[in-house]
Amino acid sequence: MAHEEAPASASQRIIVRNIGLMLSGDLEKPVLDADSILIEDGIIRAVGRAADMPPPEKDDRVIDADGCAVCPGLIDNHMHPVAGDWTPRQNQIGWMESCVHGGVTTLISAGEAHYPNRPRDVVGVKALAIAAQRSFSGFRPLGMKIIAGAPVLEPGLTENDFKELADAGVTLVGEVGLGRIKDGPTGRMMIGWSRKYGMTSMTHTGGPSIPGSGRIGADVVLEVDADVVAHVNGGPTALPDDELRRICEEGTRALEIVHNGNLRSGLMVLELANERNELHRMLLGTDAPAGSGVQPLGILRTIAHLASLTDVAPELIFCFATGNVARVRNLADRGVIEPGRAADLVFLDAAEASAGDDVLDCLREGNLPGIGMVMIDGVVRTGRSRNTPPARRVPK
Ligand SMILES: [Zn+2]
Repeated sequence: MAHEEAPASASQRIIVRNIGLMLSGDLEKPVLDADSILIEDGIIRAVGRAADMPPPEKDDRVIDADGCAVCPGLIDNHMHPVAGDWTPRQNQIGWMESCVHGGVTTLISAGEAHYPNRPRDVVGVKALAIAAQRSFSGFRPLGMKIIAGAPVLEPGLTENDFKELADAGVTLVGEVGLGRIKDGPTGRMMIGWSRKYGMTSMTHTGGPSIPGSGRIGADVVLEVDADVVAHVNGGPTALPDDELRRICEEGTRALEIVHNGNLRSGLMVLELANERNELHRMLLGTDAPAGSGVQPLGILRTIAHLASLTDVAPELIFCFATGNVARVRNLADRGVIEPGRAADLVFLDAAEASAGDDVLDCLREGNLPGIGMVMIDGVVRTGRSRNTPPARRVPK
C-alpha cells in the first residue's frame, strides 16, 4: 500500500463551469442558483453564474462539469479508525481510500475502540487519543481528511485530563458507553468538562455493539446530553420506538442515522424530526468498520435509502452529511459550498440507466448516484469512481 502525502492544495486557479445542479450543503438554501465555482489555493473564492466569474487567464485550469451536479465533500460523522488505512475489525486495508470513491472527503472518529487491547487506564486513554490525533492529522489516503483522537471514557478521568487533551489538540470524545462509564451522572459530568474545553462528543445509543460496550437507553442518552446521539437507529441494535421518541422530543442534540444500523428506526426518527421541523439535528455516519463490514458507499446508500423511503427532499438529506456535520463539529472550514470554505467537491449525476432526469430523481428512485470526480482542497483526487455505478455525465 503506497500512501504518499497528498499535496496540501492546488495553488493553480480553477474555474468550474457548466454545473447543472449545485447542492450547497446548507439546509436554509440547499440548491444554489449558480453554475460556476472559482477556486484558488484550494479554497472556494466565488460561487455564481458564469457571467459573474472572472475571465479565465492563461494559467487557469477550466473544468467543464458537462451539466452534472456538484455537492460538498461528504463527511462521515461516525467511523472507528485504528492505524493508518487498516482496520483489525475486518482485517482490511485501504478502506479509507475507497471511501473517497464514495464521495467522502472527511472521516470523524467515534473512538479508537477497535485498537487491539486498547488501554483503559487514564494515562493510556490519553496517550492513545493524542497518538491517534497526531497520526491521522497528517495521514491523507487519497487526500481524505481524518479527524481522530476520540478518547473512550473510563473511570478516573478528571477535569484536568480533558484540559490536557484539548491543549494537546484533541477535539473529540468517543461514544460514551463504549468504555466503563455507562451511567448518566458520570457521563454528564465528563461531557460537561469536555465541552468546557471545546471538544465535541457523542453517546452510544441502543444495544451493545462489541463486547465491553453496554445497552444505553433513553434515560442515559438524555442525561449525558452529549453533542451527538450516536447511531440513534442502533449500532446495530436500536432502542424500542418509545425510547427513540423520547430522545427526539425531550432532547435537543444532534441525531445521527448510520448505515450499519436499523433502517426502520432511522426512517422513524427522520420522519419525526421532519414533523417537528428539526432537520438541523440530523447527521449521517456509517459506523464502519463494523460486523457488517466497511462500506465505501455507505453515506451515499444512506442518502438513497432516506430519499426514497421518506418525503424529505434529497437536497435536504445531503445537508445531513455535509453542512449539518460541519456545524455540529465546529468545522467552519468545510461542508458547505460558499466562499471561504475548502474546495472539497463531489461531481455526481444520475447513474446510467436510472429512471428520472438528474441525481435527485435517481435518489428518489432509491438508486445510487454515479460519481464522476472528487476534489479535495482543490486537488482532483479521483476521476470516475471505481465504486459507484457509472454517472451519466462526468466533468471534462
Ligand atoms: Zn456505538
